[in-house]
Amino acid sequence: MKIVEIEGLIIKSMKFKENSEILTILTKDNVLSVIAKGSLKIKSNLRMISQRLTYAKFNIYYKEDSLCTLIDGDIINNFKNIITDIKKITYASFIMDLIYQIKKDSKEELLFDLLIKSLTKINEDFDPLVIANIVELKCLKFLGVEPNLEYKCGICGKNEVSTISVDNACYVCKNCLANEYKYSEKSLKVLKLYSLVDFENLKTINVSNKVKEEIDNFLDMYYDEYTGIYLKTKDFIKKIS
Ligand SMILES: [Zn+2]
Repeated sequence: MKIVEIEGLIIKSMKFKENSEILTILTKDNVLSVIAKGSLKIKSNLRMISQRLTYAKFNIYYKEDSLCTLIDGDIINNFKNIITDIKKITYASFIMDLIYQIKKDSKEELLFDLLIKSLTKINEDFDPLVIANIVELKCLKFLGVEPNLEYKCGICGKNEVSTISVDNACYVCKNCLANEYKYSEKSLKVLKLYSLVDFENLKTINVSNKVKEEIDNFLDMYYDEYTGIYLKTKDFIKKIS
């Protein structure tokens, strides 16, 4: 057994025995199960660093393919504004779920950056639905099913866009249109912008409710069609909004 330092985010915490917890910590390249012994005791020095949504540098006793043990940690961000707001928590949970699902089969380190940056934006009061949708769109690349978002008809190549087609995974012109839903021009353009967003340089977001709703619906249909990922947290979002 050796002591190692890991940088990660606690995405799940489950009570274990009388006053301990089993934590699921996502790192850049791994998902670890870590026991925080006695962390639920009031005087435990692990209490503050064993909560869900804690992003920290943790020292652990590391055991390969087995339960690791938490020793201590230095908090980088505990996303205070998220954990005190039910709406923000719900969206943050959805994003954590989504990235966890993808990360189980992928060693892609950028997923961890995407997770931390998106949570940081929600913590800074950016619209959580918009942030979640941007994450969903970006994740399609890691799933290998990203749509072609070149702003022209992806079927005939004509420089005209009438709507976006889930079946064809691209924009289509009015000649190539079959029976796709007709999204507003604004939504079609904003979807393209979402794909280009760099969270670090994002200063403001100004999107109307109608556009947000249309893009969210498009992404739901797209995920249904191509990914096989179904998340209960998304249903929960629909219930509270
Ligand atoms: Zn066309």
